[in-house]
Amino acid sequence: MQGLMMNAPLTITSIVHHAERVHGRKEIVSVTRDNPRHRYTYKDAFGRARQLANAIAGWKLEQGDRIATFAWNDYRHFETYYASACSGYVCHTINPRLFPEQIVYIINHADDQWVFLDPDFWPIVEGVADQCPGVKGWVVMTTREHMPVTDRDNVVCYEELLEGQSSTFEWPELDENAACSLCYTSGTTGNPKGVLYSHRSTMLHTYATMMPDALGIASSDVVMPIVPMFHVNAWGNPYACPVAGAKMVMPGAKMGDGATLAALINEEGVTMSAGVPTVWLNLLNHLRSTGERVDTLERVVVGGSACPLSIMEEFDTYGVDTRHAWGMTEMSPLGTSNAAGANRAQFTDDEFAKMRTNVGIPVFGVEVKITDDDNNELPWDGKAFGALKVRGPWICESYYKLDGSDAHSEPGWFETGDVATINPDGYVSITDRTKDVIKSGGEWISSIEVENCATGHPMVAEAGVIGRMHPKWGERPLLIVVRNEQGADLTPDELKNYLDGKIAKWWIPDDVQFIDAMPHTATGKIQKMELREMFADYQFPDA
Ligand code: AMP
Repeated sequence: MQGLMMNAPLTITSIVHHAERVHGRKEIVSVTRDNPRHRYTYKDAFGRARQLANAIAGWKLEQGDRIATFAWNDYRHFETYYASACSGYVCHTINPRLFPEQIVYIINHADDQWVFLDPDFWPIVEGVADQCPGVKGWVVMTTREHMPVTDRDNVVCYEELLEGQSSTFEWPELDENAACSLCYTSGTTGNPKGVLYSHRSTMLHTYATMMPDALGIASSDVVMPIVPMFHVNAWGNPYACPVAGAKMVMPGAKMGDGATLAALINEEGVTMSAGVPTVWLNLLNHLRSTGERVDTLERVVVGGSACPLSIMEEFDTYGVDTRHAWGMTEMSPLGTSNAAGANRAQFTDDEFAKMRTNVGIPVFGVEVKITDDDNNELPWDGKAFGALKVRGPWICESYYKLDGSDAHSEPGWFETGDVATINPDGYVSITDRTKDVIKSGGEWISSIEVENCATGHPMVAEAGVIGRMHPKWGERPLLIVVRNEQGADLTPDELKNYLDGKIAKWWIPDDVQFIDAMPHTATGKIQKMELREMFADYQFPDA
């Protein structure tokens, strides 16, 4: 027997209707090239999204066509998200930190019809535009006076595009399974792969991110997504905030600038923010050096790579709860969240320090398991390491225009490429990427745990651990460190002594090498492949 409930489609157009009616007066504040503090309301934002939808309608695109964005977090990017997807097109967000050849590849692979770009990225576009013959035009998201000087005839000014357009537009009825956005992974090997989100998956992910133990977004929040809108839809913040009626604060190009972030937090009353560990280092360095505080900030969600305990403990001193989350592009991205801070009273100090560095429990809707090399499921005992697999309604079933992938070899499950343990309560600890694991004498060493510990040393800015050949053990860990301003005298022995007692003795790296700058991927993760290349000829002193 079927249920007798309405089959209302889950589309992000419903967010527009809802936010306009009930949260219309809530603000969106943005930093842009043409305005250091632009401010308007959700009602204004969706009115302009309709103007943009009217302009796009004049381009006579087919439903499902791709419209790309290449932009920082700001209000024009927000408008473009909704104008494109709610009109029935697919908003393809491009990460400007990809190599130009990858950008060309994904624009052509996605068959992008139009590209909306921030003026900051005009130099990149000038370098690649001729290699993207399918693009009909480039819309620069700014005012006339900030437009780049160019001879190209298919370059349009965003504000001129909107000018004179009506703010009335009848959004089409859409199938909830229709695609609404596209994001390519920034894989370190091979070409980037496209993850095509549907309206339905986006809506379900939105509900999940808003749950109290996930990102916990409420109408009383002022949310500053530092995680970029060009990568996995800023972890869903641009959808969850208008649903909740949370004020949004978007730092534009200043997302890596500690001083701007602190000013935005204090002047706009930010309560919650989300970003990768490196952005927090910028903010914390700024606070440490100026003595400023961030008293309105209640919690930060940290993910994208492992959050070292030292960052969490420094946030504690400002009364900010750090919530560690894990996910990936293929998961929209949220997979797990650690709300240990919200349950602080349940733990002793030692237990809390140990608890909070894992990535938490699966958010409701995501199922997880770990398997061995023969695909046998491993126990949730907190000890067995295995390939982490996931399934759920906002997890990628297959990549865009790619038949089959290793990640989808077990039907119904997505293999994340991460190695993890899961404890009896369902808390997941990510120990490594599968391709980065270090096996010493047949046993796994968690490079992430060693890195986290090393980053806790007060003279360490960043730490990366890779496995190098060893005649006796097969592989041993090599610790590669970027020292901070106070770290000129830091020696390998001092670091090894510091790690002693904090991690298993046999996990302590055999050697430490210092470098000036850590190589990063386009999404801010340590580029292990490049570290392995840099130290390809390295031999341990005792080897
Ligand atoms: P991306 O698709 O670029 O967002 O990268 C996803 C990958 O980032 C995951 O598969 C993990 O390897 C890594 N990652 C994300 N969040 C965390 C975290 N909290 N701790 C450790 N690794 C993480």
